[in-house]
Amino acid sequence: MIGCRCPVCTSSDSRDKRLRTSALIRYEGLELVIDAGPDFRQQMLRAGISHPDAILLTHHHIDHVGGLDDVRAFNYSADTSYKVCTPFPIYCEERVQDALHKMFYYAFTDHPYPGVPDYRLEKIDERPFSIKGVEIVPIRVFHYKLPVLGFRFGSLAYVTDANRIPEDEFDKLKGLDIFVINTVRRGHHISHFSLEEAIEVAKRVGAKRTFLTHLSHQLPRYEELLAELPEGIEPAWDGLKIDF
Ligand SMILES: [Zn+2]
Ligand SMILES: [Zn+2]
Ligand SMILES: [Zn+2]
Repeated sequence: MIGCRCPVCTSSDSRDKRLRTSALIRYEGLELVIDAGPDFRQQMLRAGISHPDAILLTHHHIDHVGGLDDVRAFNYSADTSYKVCTPFPIYCEERVQDALHKMFYYAFTDHPYPGVPDYRLEKIDERPFSIKGVEIVPIRVFHYKLPVLGFRFGSLAYVTDANRIPEDEFDKLKGLDIFVINTVRRGHHISHFSLEEAIEVAKRVGAKRTFLTHLSHQLPRYEELLAELPEGIEPAWDGLKIDF
């Protein structure tokens, strides 16, 4: 948090230095990025990503889409002469597409200024879809009243920015090895699972390992939080790699 001097913000443990919530998924030959917040450019540089197959968006809050201007680097990554622009695929729901048209209006005009990002928006909903023949299962969750999508890739499911998972959707979360779920702090929050609620959901889903994401500085430092979590539940951290 800008300007904050709390024990988390001043921690010397690199696992307490958090950029905006995002994940890179390598699955069945695909390289996919989930969400592209304001730290997207830094995250792509840090991970050495040169040309992912697509970005999947959970919802249109700025901490999840604010970095999409930098997709323009991927428009030209297939051509080192920077002459051939390939529109970059972004999979999201119709309401997210509507928001992107407003936020990144300059990319959607009839004659855009040279060099603006070129998006290829692919509409999805809560039904399974495929990219290059690989099936991805969206999970409908709610972020206060806003419908958001989580995603399942084989034995891993990723759910962020939710405080409610409808009963029926729990069927899509059976038999997981890895489950990623959001929480921001202890105690009630209007649009995110509290730590207590996230633990409850994790126990119900029963994945072999659960990772908590979207953590704020209102939770304890990594080491302290890990020590108090039940067996099989861990805080995620920036740069964490998980095999699945
Ligand atoms: Zn702080
Ligand atoms: Zn959100
Ligand atoms: Zn968020």
